[in-house]
Amino acid sequence: MTGPSVVIIGAGVVGAALADELSARGWTEVTVVDQGDVPATGGSSSHAPGLVFQTNGSKTMTEMARYTVEKFVALDSFLQVGGLEVATTPERLAELHRRHGWAAAWGIEAHLLSPEECVAKHSLLDGSKVLGGLFLPTDGLAKAVRAVDAQLARARERGVRVLPRHEVLDIRSEGGRVTSVVTDQGEIAADIVVCCAGIWGPKVARMVGMNLPLTPLAHQLAWTGQVQELAGQTEEATRPILRHQDADLYYRERFDTLGIGYYGHRPMPISADDILSVDAAEVMPSVLTFTPDDFADAWSATQELLPSTRSAKVEEGINGLFSFTTDHLPLMGESPQVKGFWVAEAVWVTHSAGVGLAMAEWLVDGHCSTFDLHECDVNRFEPHQLAPDYVRARGCQNYVEVYDIIHPLQPMEEPRPLRTSPFHPRQQELGAIFLEAAGWERPQWYGGNAGLLKGRDIPTPGDWAAQYWSPIVGAEAQATRESVAMYDMTALKRLEVSGPGAVAFLQSLTTGDVDKSVGSVTYCLLLDTDGGIRSDVTVARLGPEEFQVGANGNLDLDWFDRHRPRDGSVQVRDLTAGTCCVGVWGPRARDLVQPLTTTDLTALRYFRGTRAYIGNVPVTMLRLSYVGELGWEIYTTADMGLKLWDSLWEAGQDHGVLAGGRGAFTSLRLEKGYRSFGTDMTYEHDPYEAGLGFAVKLDKGDFVGRDALLARKESVKRRLTCLLTDEVVMGREPVYDGERAVGYVTSAAYGYTIGRGIAYAWLPAALATPGQPVDIGYFDRRVGAVVAEEPLFDPAMQRLRG
Ligand SMILES: Cc1cc2nc3c(=O)[nH]c(=O)nc-3n(C[C@H](O)[C@H](O)[C@H](O)COP(=O)(O)OP(=O)(O)OC[C@H]3O[C@@H](n4cnc5c(N)ncnc54)[C@H](O)[C@@H]3O)c2cc1C
Repeated sequence: MTGPSVVIIGAGVVGAALADELSARGWTEVTVVDQGDVPATGGSSSHAPGLVFQTNGSKTMTEMARYTVEKFVALDSFLQVGGLEVATTPERLAELHRRHGWAAAWGIEAHLLSPEECVAKHSLLDGSKVLGGLFLPTDGLAKAVRAVDAQLARARERGVRVLPRHEVLDIRSEGGRVTSVVTDQGEIAADIVVCCAGIWGPKVARMVGMNLPLTPLAHQLAWTGQVQELAGQTEEATRPILRHQDADLYYRERFDTLGIGYYGHRPMPISADDILSVDAAEVMPSVLTFTPDDFADAWSATQELLPSTRSAKVEEGINGLFSFTTDHLPLMGESPQVKGFWVAEAVWVTHSAGVGLAMAEWLVDGHCSTFDLHECDVNRFEPHQLAPDYVRARGCQNYVEVYDIIHPLQPMEEPRPLRTSPFHPRQQELGAIFLEAAGWERPQWYGGNAGLLKGRDIPTPGDWAAQYWSPIVGAEAQATRESVAMYDMTALKRLEVSGPGAVAFLQSLTTGDVDKSVGSVTYCLLLDTDGGIRSDVTVARLGPEEFQVGANGNLDLDWFDRHRPRDGSVQVRDLTAGTCCVGVWGPRARDLVQPLTTTDLTALRYFRGTRAYIGNVPVTMLRLSYVGELGWEIYTTADMGLKLWDSLWEAGQDHGVLAGGRGAFTSLRLEKGYRSFGTDMTYEHDPYEAGLGFAVKLDKGDFVGRDALLARKESVKRRLTCLLTDEVVMGREPVYDGERAVGYVTSAAYGYTIGRGIAYAWLPAALATPGQPVDIGYFDRRVGAVVAEEPLFDPAMQRLRG
């Protein structure tokens, strides 16, 4: 037996996959416990119909699905009948084109089909109802219970213990570390506990005081009696699995009957505490009684699309429970409070083996090298996103929206508003159109700026890019470069790192040299041990032992907290909620701000910061700009925020000041080539590929990721590349070299100063040379693009240094 002692709670598809992957890596001191019988435990995996549609807007989720398919095929636990999604509305057809683009971008074979081709694949369809389809030959049906059995069998052979009928009642910890798991059959010592308890996850996590943002919801699955056209079918399934998302439905065959899954009914959440025990449950704990009234619309829509079901009946049905989260993504990672307590929760069968692999790599190697996990980390949430009301409301909303067509900028509707910056009342007065960022209401543009349109010819993008857009976005962008604009930057995470150990701590965790004079600001990266980018940050030294770090989100706080020395020499504090920030940027920024302060702003050079006063308001000013113009990020405490805004606004009236929204910001950012973590680069990319090598100071001494970078530096095979495009695209589209999909778009916008569409894209290094033509797959067409030298605007940095 080797490795630490691990207890996995739950022998569903996730727990079984993890046991297999851990033991394959030599960790064999592993015990899997389940309250039910194994392999059909009574959890969600025991009754899942097992449809695996791999296509997903998330690259990570698609890759996890692909891994699951490949593994289940090898385990003889997959019927690879293909997957067909049909459109019955023009909007859905456009959406299927978009989904085809995702599949191509993430490297999965997919085909768009005509109505006739759809019927040829699935003869039960009424072709006259169908406008087209998307077909993936490698999709199909996972045999979840068989996959559990097969993975546990392999794990057992390697020494893993599997203990059915062991209910976990408590988890013990000492000194902030797990020590054991208490079951109804006795206590099991553990260095690491992984909660793979599915819908029971919140209950198990609470045993270590962890608040897991997951809602179990009932989902209707019905089975017909014999469908005449399927009579005599001896194989379990021959036609592709089928999705009819316009009616929230999916289908699979089971010999001569059909399984029908439905997401169109009212959300039916349940508390993890109210799930019945294995012995008390009539069928199994994750199965509630079918409510036929909720299924009525599903049955009529089914009879319309699949006419041969008209002579059949719905003979069985369940309201089966499974997990939903606030953002559709799984919950993976270690508790911030109790070391050694990990979760792998809210995972579909579709992604289960991928999640098992990811968790095993993370546990054994300290990081996952196969997938970028930043979207899945359980520590990604802001505090308000853990509130029970929020978790339930978002879980229910996500249930309703599972098959909806969601625009990338579409904000959640409820619960809102949640977080408002002190500038909010003024922004409302200026007619701000708010979207949402980490709970913050953030202006996308200002209706009050309509007057700026006069004399400007702002091109209108295609219909998708024109949603959550106004020509005012273009006017705000141009006006920023002409005069001066105020941008609300409050939503960006701000951390204070202080104490006698702060310099050494930041030196060890960042790629830049932050041990510079007080007033210095350093752009640098946080890397993982494999050299992958975890975040990009600006580190401002405000005192000998005091730094303000401009970060990206809660994962940065979590990363700092995990690495912080425990001897009290370093404190890390999240300043975001108690402070606010306005970016004052544009050629007339100095004219606006200088009269308000006694600080000599000409002496404050680019990438320098200082404490100062704007009138009566104490501020921190950092001379930085994401939009590529002269100006400052000006921070103050929340109580003084409105006064700061008003002082700047009033002084700006003589200088043509305007309020600028996020739409303009993104356009200006891309003209300057500034990358955004999470969109342009993620954990899977290193600084050299991402064009951020300038932020790495290899000669400053050791830091996390340095050794790995030395090797990666010499082997750049792909590059984040600037493209000029003939039409504005959205992001996540495939990029083609001829017929071959060679990469994908990250960020995209129209450049209102340069008068061209801009897209950043990951491309093979060999194609990332200026002048290289490529195509972007955009819905049903190809958009021409050419690789361009970057940055596209002010490469000499005259505007910023002016
Ligand atoms: C009706 C329905 C249809 C679905 N269709 C699909 C589909 O087509 N495709 C797809 O990909 N997904 C589908 N899903 C979702 C999928 O079934 C689940 O997301 C998945 O099975 C979850 O796997 P899991 O291992 O996390 O959870 P589970 O399979 O629920 O396993 C968790 C295990 O933890 C055990 N456990 C919990 N608490 C304790 C405790 N205190 N002590 C000991 N053991 C404990 C439970 O007994 C259980 O065995 C469907 C779900 C439902 C309900």
